Amino acid sequence: MRFYSSEFSVQSKRKVEIIDVTGNVSGLVERSGIKNGFASIWVPHTTATITVNERDPDLWEDMLTVMERLVPQRGSYRHNAKYSWIPSEQNAHAHILSSLIKPSITLPIVDGQIMLGTWQSILFIELDGPRLRTVQVYLMGE
Ligand code: ZN
Repeated sequence: MRFYSSEFSVQSKRKVEIIDVTGNVSGLVERSGIKNGFASIWVPHTTATITVNERDPDLWEDMLTVMERLVPQRGSYRHNAKYSWIPSEQNAHAHILSSLIKPSITLPIVDGQIMLGTWQSILFIELDGPRLRTVQVYLMGE
């Protein structure tokens, strides 16, 4: 059993944005030499998150629209009121969505490949950009 850790950066360009990071993760899996095991992908931020879904920018816009409807940017949030003089801290909606979606996913690795379905991609979700973000990848296996 081996343990391997690495990370990569993601530069978001919009306030909310979905970015396909499948290539970044599969590149790290290849470089690790681990053939069978698990990949845990961890986003060490409180206003960004990660998920798996279809690689379709129109769907991504739909997802972001529904997220806004579910947890609107404007609302009477205590977090925003507490930091009312800090424009960058008017982001309670982003914190809430980050916890609802979760900052981590675990994926199986078999024969050196991440076991994604035909239509699945690994999607980084920016909820309070634009920012330079870090995505950490932890691999366990042999
Ligand atoms: Zn905040």
